[in-house]
Amino acid sequence: MTEFTRFGPAGVPPMFRLIGATTSDVPRLLHEEGLDAFEYQASRWGTKPQIKQVDAQRLGEEAKKNDVKLSMHGSYFINLAGKKEVVEASKERILAAATAADWMNAYVVVFHTGFYGRFEKDYALKTCISALKEVSSKMKSFGLKAKLGPETMGRKSQVGTIDEIITINKEIDNTQLVVDWGHLHALHHGALKTVDDIRQIALKIERELGIQALRNMHCHFSKIEFGSSGEKRHHTLDEAAYGPDFSMLAKVILEFEMHPVVICESPILDVDALKMKEILELLIAEKQGAGS
Ligand SMILES: [Zn+2]
Repeated sequence: MTEFTRFGPAGVPPMFRLIGATTSDVPRLLHEEGLDAFEYQASRWGTKPQIKQVDAQRLGEEAKKNDVKLSMHGSYFINLAGKKEVVEASKERILAAATAADWMNAYVVVFHTGFYGRFEKDYALKTCISALKEVSSKMKSFGLKAKLGPETMGRKSQVGTIDEIITINKEIDNTQLVVDWGHLHALHHGALKTVDDIRQIALKIERELGIQALRNMHCHFSKIEFGSSGEKRHHTLDEAAYGPDFSMLAKVILEFEMHPVVICESPILDVDALKMKEILELLIAEKQGAGS
């Protein structure tokens, strides 16, 4: 298990594509930049893996060689609170991602749980949990090791408040806590303004799921634009007009001795991932300076 905070991009950085890099080149290129995590995007997949097993294994080997921790973002076409056919296909999509995640040794499959639709929120959540219980037991029977990572969501229409994600993590055993801080900020109309706003969420997680879940969380981070119904679009770290500010999360990471994987979802993926890493390293250096 990692005992330090890792940083990396959500998907292949634009510059890598420009130089013609293949997927298996990505871990080496990230390592050369100073990054150590990568979230493979299976976001357009259907009910079968859309990567060949040999290619996935090759990516996994390169990641290991270059000390890059892999995660996977599952299909966007998942709704565990929808009609029966939709729920059945959604379960298959998660299983397809989990299968390929095992091939490449990605530790978690991140996914968007679903939409409330016409359901009461409590009912939608219960429906999602029962579908996930089936997915979880199938994963166990297939021997799939990746964790299920339902993500905190940024739109009012989506299942995935921090409380709902905590409940799912309590109910399903092979889960990994996934907190998208930009989404939390957008859902609550810019709620993350101070270090204490982030600290309160960390304390809630510690209270509900324990210190280890807090310390090992998987994070998505970017600045975000929002409207009345929540998330609109992701922005770069340098855009002062948008929040949240990464230095607030960096302070909470140090305060609670967390060692999360932080996946950058800004439009300039790896560039901003490196900026975040620098912000955290600067804080660590300041703290060590003050202590000596
Ligand atoms: Zn996502």
